[in-house]
Amino acid sequence: MSQYNAPDYYLLDELIGEEHLLIRDSVRQWVNQQLLPVIEDYAQRAEFPSQLLPGMAQLGLFGPTIPEEYGGAGLDYLAYGIMMQELERGDSGIRSTASVQGSLVMYPIYAYGSEEQKRHYLPKLANGELMGCFGLTEPNHGSNPAGMLTRFEDDGDQVVLNGSKMWISNAPFADIAIVWAKNPEGKVQGLIVERGMEGFSTPETHNKWSLRASATGELVFDHMRVPKNHILPGVTGMRGPLSCLNQARYGIAWGALGAAMDCYDTAVRYAIEREQFGKPIGGFQLQQKKLAEMLTEITKGQLLVWRLATLKNEDRATPAQISMAKRNSVATALQVAREARQVLGAMGITGEYPIMRHMMNLESVVTYEGTHDIHLLITGMDITGINAFG
Ligand SMILES: Cc1cc2nc3c(=O)[nH]c(=O)nc-3n(C[C@H](O)[C@H](O)[C@H](O)COP(=O)(O)OP(=O)(O)OC[C@H]3O[C@@H](n4cnc5c(N)ncnc54)[C@H](O)[C@@H]3O)c2cc1C
Repeated sequence: MSQYNAPDYYLLDELIGEEHLLIRDSVRQWVNQQLLPVIEDYAQRAEFPSQLLPGMAQLGLFGPTIPEEYGGAGLDYLAYGIMMQELERGDSGIRSTASVQGSLVMYPIYAYGSEEQKRHYLPKLANGELMGCFGLTEPNHGSNPAGMLTRFEDDGDQVVLNGSKMWISNAPFADIAIVWAKNPEGKVQGLIVERGMEGFSTPETHNKWSLRASATGELVFDHMRVPKNHILPGVTGMRGPLSCLNQARYGIAWGALGAAMDCYDTAVRYAIEREQFGKPIGGFQLQQKKLAEMLTEITKGQLLVWRLATLKNEDRATPAQISMAKRNSVATALQVAREARQVLGAMGITGEYPIMRHMMNLESVVTYEGTHDIHLLITGMDITGINAFG
């Protein structure tokens, strides 16, 4: 039985409608019953719990905002945010799988795919029959994806794709990949590539201390022939991948706070139960300072993403606003995880409690989808109009 008591210091639940609270409860219950009992073991063994995928699909976690006519859940961005928060309360790696599937695979097909591509792929991605991954980062191009070397040449009704992608979530088991590559004119385009196409391999990346329950790998294209009707016709240039990242970063802004909320809640319970020097450690000022600061930062983060959801629903959230929220939520979560771990003393380093796993996971979350520093520079550019990073 999970004892989770989600912090809601400013009574934000009152601003979330009945329907959204029901959605949250169903994800929370699933996380309690299906994810939490297995996640520590899978993380310790560095294995992806693939048995969770059908349940995730059933909950509508794959493409929550994609319209129902394409198999999505047709929900708004508040619902999407709440779902990601609950999921990441369980584990950032499992939330990553949902983010990739919904925001980085289904979204580009929905936004930029042909009608035929949408009808063919989206329903199967929504129900988990097909799993996808998103290939943007390359070995020598991370923060600067526009410098990518992966490219394709024209060959009749096919293209020939060469290059490689690195650090790709879900790559080892994905059935399809959205690959961003340069066309013969040097412009970035998206392609839907399928496992089994000749010249395509997805070696797994091992030795990760972070996101251990998420599978990461490379995408290698060696004179890979891809039919031309697998190119996403609706977008050319970096706007394509960046708009997908915008969707995913929005979910991460909500999600990372879920990990923070779990760490905080665990620390509060421990501080009240654990006694030293004849009284609960929660009775010492230094521990109270930690808990009070954690709750303050979490509450500020919750208010930020709640407002961001409203802006996103009205199609008014700017990429820079999303950058600010992603950076703030992940930094808050990392800080909360580190403080919470200290509250637990030695117990904090064990798998008996979720804190160390959250903390290690967040070390990836602070780097992927735009690093902490790059997001700061995006805010700086928004303020000054001067690009300090490229
Ligand atoms: C577990 C995991 C899963 C991932 N999943 C995916 C995925 O599914 N798909 C995908 O495409 N990618 C994925 N990534 C890759 C991720 O997006 C990149 O790691 C990220 O963009 C940073 O790139 P990099 O690691 O090459 O770091 P670099 O770009 O080499 O940066 C290294 C450091 O330099 C700093 N830096 C870089 N440029 C500047 C600058 N101009 N000014 C100041 N500082 C700068 C960065 O902030 C960072 O601190 C994943 C990464 C991880 C760890």
